[in-house]
Amino acid sequence: MNIFQEMKERVAARQVAERYGLKVSRNGMARCPFHNDKHPSMKIDRNYYCFACGAKGDAVNYVAILFGLSQFEAAKKINEDFSLEIPIGQPEEKRKQISGFKKKEKVQTKEERIRFVRKKIDGWARDAANVLLRYLRWMEFWKEFYKPEFAEEEWHPLFAEALQNESKVSYLADILMFGTDEEVLDFSGTEGRR
Ligand SMILES: [Zn+2]
Repeated sequence: MNIFQEMKERVAARQVAERYGLKVSRNGMARCPFHNDKHPSMKIDRNYYCFACGAKGDAVNYVAILFGLSQFEAAKKINEDFSLEIPIGQPEEKRKQISGFKKKEKVQTKEERIRFVRKKIDGWARDAANVLLRYLRWMEFWKEFYKPEFAEEEWHPLFAEALQNESKVSYLADILMFGTDEEVLDFSGTEGRR
C-alpha cells in the first residue's frame, strides 16, 4: 500500500474539507469551494463530487486543489495536520519496516522514477485543467443567461463574475494544458495560495 492509499483509507475528504473550513450539512452537501457556488452543489463524504462544476476526488486531491499543492505536498500536509504519522518521504525500505509492510517490490531505476513523477504531474495538471474548463463553460453560460437586457439594468453577480474572471481562468487553463513543465510547476506552487 502506498502513502496515498494509506491516507485515503484513514481520512475522508469530508474530514479534511471540514478541517480546512468547509461547512458540510447533515446530508453531506456543501457549497463547492472550487467554483462560486451559491447553493450547495457538492456532495462530500469519503470522496467529493460537485454537481455544478464537476470537481471530484478524494481527501488528498481536495487539499491539493484547495491549497495549490502537488499530491505529494498535500499528503504531507494532511499527515501533519491530522498527526497520522505515516512515514512520508523516508526511504522505501524504512517506510515498509515502520508500517510493517513486507512485500518485496522491484527497485526503480532513476529513469523509471522520473517517468513516474512526470506522469503524476501530467495527471495533476490534467485534473486541474478539467476543473477550470468546467468553470469556464459555466461562465460562458452565465454570460448569455444573465446578460442584462437594458443598459441601465443592474448586473447579475454571475454575469459580472463571468466578465471579470473568464480571461484569467482561461489563461490558467491554457498554462495547465499547454505550458512547459516549469510553468505548470510554477502554477501548482503559487496559484492556490494567494
Ligand atoms: Zn463546484
